[in-house]
Amino acid sequence: MIFTVAIDGPAAAGKGTISRAVAARFGFRHLDTGLLYRAVGAKGGDPIAAAQNLTAADLSRDDLRSMEAGQAASKVAAISEVRAALIAFQRGFARGEGGAVLDGRDIGTVICPEAEVKLYVTASAEVRAHRRWLEVGGVEAQVLVEVKERDDRDMNRADAPLKPAADAVIIDTSHMSIDDAIDAACAEILAHRA
Ligand code: C5P
Repeated sequence: MIFTVAIDGPAAAGKGTISRAVAARFGFRHLDTGLLYRAVGAKGGDPIAAAQNLTAADLSRDDLRSMEAGQAASKVAAISEVRAALIAFQRGFARGEGGAVLDGRDIGTVICPEAEVKLYVTASAEVRAHRRWLEVGGVEAQVLVEVKERDDRDMNRADAPLKPAADAVIIDTSHMSIDDAIDAACAEILAHRA
């Protein structure tokens, strides 16, 4: 069986939590594609060479989840050659045997336009910044500035900008509990699996 669930959306909208829950519920493999860009940004040196030579060790660094790593990721993610170097791996993962969930920014639009289910998980910038602030601490207003900066860079880059695929189902989690958001995602998958 080949079955791909594409989950796109901006930072801290709940994509990761929803993706992990959906993968566990249906027994699908899961790829957090943001980690690829975070690893490229964290590696330093020439980002194109880093993307072309990414190793499992690069992906298991323990400093990839920080706000700084997120900003660095979104800078290298605007480089077309970096994106190109990561396409084949993501497509292979998406269309391999068994179901797969991929979360990122361009899964439904570029990596796997043929995905059986496409979700676009979003929330207001204020709500997302608040959630991120609860995780990382610091000054909430500064977290909001960084969230908006990353949105702006991801949505306005020339190559694979963040946007919902034309046939994506939008899940706005601004006023939703995480359980309700997971249920909405699962309902969508069940509807397409029949
Ligand atoms: O999802 P996460 O916050 O880990 O992603 C970090 C950055 O990587 C994003 O801000 C975005 O610039 C980039 N990214 C991307 N395409 C993806 C996944 C992430 O451009 N599919």
